[in-house]
Amino acid sequence: MIRYQRTIKNSISCKGMGLHSGKAVTLTLRPAAVDAGVVFLRKDLGGVEIKASAANTSATNYATTLRRNNATVQTVEHLLAALAGLGISNVQAEIDAEEVPIMDGSAGPFIRMITEAGIQTQRKVQPVLKVTRPVFVADGDKQAAIWPAETSSISYFIDFDHPLLREQSLSYSISEESFIREVADARTFGFLRDVQALQAAGLARGGSLENAVVLDAETVLNKEGLRYRDEFVRHKVLDIIGDLSLAGMPIIGHVVARKSGHSLNSQLVAKVLQEPLNWVHVGEIPTVAPRREPLVMQPSVAI
Ligand SMILES: [Zn+2]
Repeated sequence: MIRYQRTIKNSISCKGMGLHSGKAVTLTLRPAAVDAGVVFLRKDLGGVEIKASAANTSATNYATTLRRNNATVQTVEHLLAALAGLGISNVQAEIDAEEVPIMDGSAGPFIRMITEAGIQTQRKVQPVLKVTRPVFVADGDKQAAIWPAETSSISYFIDFDHPLLREQSLSYSISEESFIREVADARTFGFLRDVQALQAAGLARGGSLENAVVLDAETVLNKEGLRYRDEFVRHKVLDIIGDLSLAGMPIIGHVVARKSGHSLNSQLVAKVLQEPLNWVHVGEIPTVAPRREPLVMQPSVAI
């Protein structure tokens, strides 16, 4: 099946706060031309552009950061996951601070924002990267691999030292519908025992029960509880979808990850790309104009 590139129909903005910086930030998404990719624009730095690409990635275990020269954009993963989840290839993301707003800690608000802006199919084929050989990265007991396959899927395993997070796993087939239904609303999570150390390190300064699931030694502290019984592993799948999108195009293959995080996810992408024998481009030049955009979604929450 040929996939066409997509952008958004109209510009749209939201306001929020950086999870780690705690700073107020306005994010504006704008339509972009074919082959532009996802490009962040730091309005507060005079319009410095930073493309969402593997070459510009410098991830840690806590967030995925894009860097070009001295300019950075931090915590891009949930917005990138929403864009990848809806097949948006080209968009300009303008922000006026160093960190993308965390919103409610999931990709759901970005999904509803993009849906409200409208999705525009463009007249150029979206190249797709098909993995041809297994690629594997590891760091201690953390592992991430991608295997050749005919479809895009993710099998994710987590195993935290906490009674609610032992041995959760999810096997997930990537599609727009499944992303919206099964993954998009899963929130980021953290442990109360780590909060002080994180904040002392300049992290999680904007973190709260409004934008993260927080666990004490035994239970979830959020009054509303969990959105999915296994929300934690679903959020890890959301994270890796955002990180994998830094390949610059959709990937066909089976991703298998165990206790992986942003750092290892980005190492996996870099290792796939660094060896040309690991992948081929698939996609055809269209001979007819694409049909009209078939995707119809109703935003369930106003931004
Ligand atoms: Zn996350």
